[in-house]
Amino acid sequence: MAVCGPNSLMWFRKSLRIHDNPALEYAAATNGGGGQSGCLYPVFVVDPHYMEPDPTAFSAGSGRAGLNRIRFLLESLVDLDCSLRKLGSRLLVLKGEPAEVLIRCLKKWDIKRLCFEHDTEPYYQALDIKVKDYASAAGVEIFSPVSHTLFNPADIIQKNGGRPPLTYQSFVKLAGHPSWASSPLSTTISWLPPVGNVGNSKISNVPTLKELGYEDIIQDESTPFRGGESVALERLRAAINDKEWVAKFEKPKGNPSAFLKPATTVLSPYLKFGCLSSRYFYQCIQEVQKNVKSHTLPPVSLLGQLLWRDFFYTVAYGTPHFDQMEGNRISKQIPWNVDDRLLAAWRDARTGFPWIDAIMVQLHKWGWMHHLARHSVACFLTRGDLFVHWEKGRDIFERLLIDSDWAINNGNWLWLSCSSFFYQYNRIYSPTSFGKKYDPNGDYIRHFLPILKDMPKEYIYEPWTAPLSIQTKANCIIGRDYPKPVVSHDTASKDCKRKLAEAYELNKKLNGSVSEQDLKFLRRKFEEYQQKGQQPESKKPKNL
Ligand code: FAD
Repeated sequence: MAVCGPNSLMWFRKSLRIHDNPALEYAAATNGGGGQSGCLYPVFVVDPHYMEPDPTAFSAGSGRAGLNRIRFLLESLVDLDCSLRKLGSRLLVLKGEPAEVLIRCLKKWDIKRLCFEHDTEPYYQALDIKVKDYASAAGVEIFSPVSHTLFNPADIIQKNGGRPPLTYQSFVKLAGHPSWASSPLSTTISWLPPVGNVGNSKISNVPTLKELGYEDIIQDESTPFRGGESVALERLRAAINDKEWVAKFEKPKGNPSAFLKPATTVLSPYLKFGCLSSRYFYQCIQEVQKNVKSHTLPPVSLLGQLLWRDFFYTVAYGTPHFDQMEGNRISKQIPWNVDDRLLAAWRDARTGFPWIDAIMVQLHKWGWMHHLARHSVACFLTRGDLFVHWEKGRDIFERLLIDSDWAINNGNWLWLSCSSFFYQYNRIYSPTSFGKKYDPNGDYIRHFLPILKDMPKEYIYEPWTAPLSIQTKANCIIGRDYPKPVVSHDTASKDCKRKLAEAYELNKKLNGSVSEQDLKFLRRKFEEYQQKGQQPESKKPKNL
């Protein structure tokens, strides 16, 4: 390792890439101090809470993340290390509480410039305050550019008078055209300064799953998506090369049951970890759009999907307690059920509705599902059938998704539960007929729920209706080999609709200031209805 002048530290958290990485570029720029170029320390801190096994968790993984996402992150780090090595550098992996480790490095290595990508998530905001406080006091220059999103959420909020825009349309109008979009972004780096002396700091290579303590874990099917910038750019190229597909992209028209060739890009996990720059993705789509006769437009176009991402980042950043119902000014207050039995049935793919259970198996095995599949299970858990709190479903997604993203996940759960953004609670995804529209033979169900693989297609979405002789022939007795439905969809969805109508009424009457006491009162009222076996006299819910 070289001896060099003023030193820079590039702190990788997300932004696990070389292309369009302004923090890395700045860190790599020579310091010019006394004509001597500085050293560059590219650092990633392994936080044991995020990475090490937690045997008490309901699925393999750490206390915070499922195994698929940990594996994806490790693959992304190996790929980053490989790219850094090609440029004469390497990734320095350290272990411990990230702020403490970082501050120790700044001191030991005499760092004069600290560079990292700005992050709006509460976890990083809190972490950054600690590190910035130390760095400022120690006279370390900080460079923390916004490059995870297309726009700076703070700018949009400022433009809107201090509050985030709450509709996509108003967001798009305010945001306009990104300032950087018309000139090409930097996609390569030709050289990096040498890594300086690390002294006695405990540096390791990117750990393997085994080194983290996962040697005994056996997964019968793990995610087919490999992590890293190289795979991200390959996936991006494959998508973008099909110009017609990009030009015609129209969500939500895709097929949620297509799993051999998913109907959307599957770039979300790469965007989550910053293996792919959303700005570079945006420019590539723009390039395609310039060269085709016509193309779809936001909100349904591919470019429109990236704007959805920025929309949720902006609202999340500008809304205190965005990730909870209580104290969240944009969330309706609803007396959701606390029902661990129903929640566990949903989480463990035992609801008895094959479409719902197959999606949940895909979540466990792959950590990724199509957007409309996510809609189906989120609606089912909350306002569609089980009336379980959206925060509970959010937690399970947060753990198991490989693209788990604080702003987007919470934003979509608020949406799907009709707690915010979207309020047409009578529009429900049917757990039996929605999937059938796309996949009448039930191939998706047969793949993810092999116990039903021999069920005739007439019964695959409602196997409890199959005569016993058919169940016997299909080697799947309902109630023994596969569960009976946890609820009757017709009754449950009507019940949910009535509860939501009453909760909305209460929110309106109290102008949003609904207390815990008010919710308790309403919950008791619902329980009384249930005991009396009263059924609402509402219209039949509109199934999608
Ligand atoms: P594409 O359709 O190819 O879209 C390209 C990119 O646009 C995506 O990678 C994503 O970054 C962005 N995007 C697409 N749809 C949305 C959307 N509705 N909101 C915000 N950004 C969007 N997405 C996540 O990335 N992380 C999550 O934790 C997450 N949780 C969700 C939870 C629920 C309940 C629901 C209904 C949706 C959730 N989504 C989440 C949004 C969406 O389902 C995924 O972004 C999308 O399915 C990812 O697949 P893709 O990359 O092929 O998307």
